[in-house]
Amino acid sequence: MSAIKSYDHPTNANQFNQDQDRTHWHDSSLWFIREKRDRMSKSLPEWETLRSCASQIKAHTVSKLADYLEEFEKNATARGVQVHWAKDAEEHNQIVLEILRKHQAKRIVKSKSMLTEECHLNPWLEKHGIEVVDTDLGERIVQLRQEPPSHIVMPAIHLKKEDVSNTFHEHLQTEKGNNDPNYLTESARQHLRQKFCQADVGITGVNFAIAETGGFVVCTNEGNADLGVSLPKVHIACMGIEKLIPKADHLSIFLRLLARSATGQPITTYSSHFHGPVEGGELHIVLVDNGRSKIMNSDDYRNSLKCIRCGACMNTCPVYRRSGGHSYAATVPGPIGSILNPLRDAKHHKTLPFACTLCGSCSDVCPVKINLHEQLLTLRTEVKNQKQLPMSKTLPMRIASYVFQRPKLYAWLGGIGKFFLRTMPRFLIYNPLNPWGRHREMPEAPPESFRQQYAQRAKKKSDDR
Ligand code: SF4
Repeated sequence: MSAIKSYDHPTNANQFNQDQDRTHWHDSSLWFIREKRDRMSKSLPEWETLRSCASQIKAHTVSKLADYLEEFEKNATARGVQVHWAKDAEEHNQIVLEILRKHQAKRIVKSKSMLTEECHLNPWLEKHGIEVVDTDLGERIVQLRQEPPSHIVMPAIHLKKEDVSNTFHEHLQTEKGNNDPNYLTESARQHLRQKFCQADVGITGVNFAIAETGGFVVCTNEGNADLGVSLPKVHIACMGIEKLIPKADHLSIFLRLLARSATGQPITTYSSHFHGPVEGGELHIVLVDNGRSKIMNSDDYRNSLKCIRCGACMNTCPVYRRSGGHSYAATVPGPIGSILNPLRDAKHHKTLPFACTLCGSCSDVCPVKINLHEQLLTLRTEVKNQKQLPMSKTLPMRIASYVFQRPKLYAWLGGIGKFFLRTMPRFLIYNPLNPWGRHREMPEAPPESFRQQYAQRAKKKSDDR
């Protein structure tokens, strides 16, 4: 994977914005999906009831997570599944490596799993001489380009078909300049089929694990998870501990919400259920904490563990749409990523809580009703209290706070501000040294301030009496 150049979101966003056409195209592609999601959700009269149920089920599960995890382990073990526990990414990667070594596995096919991205499993296995092939089409495209995914549901949403054509020409020897999506998809299909046939072990993520049954579900649109674990005898499923739901009856609520929120589809094409190893094979499940327990213990951020990784908050976010997923320099971008990443690594991801207009659109679309924008606001205060903000941000805020607390000073400075707005030469604001002026126009100075208008109206009212 290409190394992260900067963790600074504004710097990365600025780089993405250099290509204006691509920025507009990225913005409108995601907005198209947001609109599909809206149409789908409005077609269900019970949509809001489903959201409330899902939110309550998740809140309940998180509050009793330890109990449900034990129940899941007991039931899964009874079905012949080998359950492993990993406290962090390192332990997860080591467990997976040991299973692969035990089976002398050299070639792995993997369906989309944000957890394995979070743990950086691919580079770890490659370092140990194991070939890992991502089989989700978008994931395979970014893997060939040695880029991380830019979206949790549509990993290659930042790429145009021309980019894919060039990548396939370079790596899969497809015809140069042939941008036909059908041709490109068929080429990827042929290429991946070979990989499926040669694989020693299949790795998948987990969308939902059910405590009551010990089974789990993986959702894909391409059927790549099914094929990836049907041919090899060994299946390893990697799962964050928050992916649990208590009962099989709850599953339909989440499946209805997930596909509609993610891509505006009524249902994901494949919802594959796993309830034990194939005959003569092994099924391993690795339950990973990696910072989740810490989040669970926080009243302010516990709700973020309800996330079902649908990506709807990204599709609607005006900042994500115009800055691209890579600008977040993290596995999970967008509003939910701007919460999860600083909670894990505040030092590197301190700019993310500010990559937000606080419009609240993310919270409105979230199928499990996570109060995303409120959590982001709380996080900003934490970043400030930890003294992680640069002086260029804290000093103006301190001055503003001082002025706002002194009405007479505020009124006096307001008058000066109006005078400058009217008389100041334009180049003082609109010059190459001031990025603020690049995309903005200062407002026209009003003839009277709000206070003056208020006083005039009050006077008129008393004169009229
Ligand atoms: S926070 Fe909500 S909208 Fe965003 S990915 Fe998670 S479930 Fe989906």
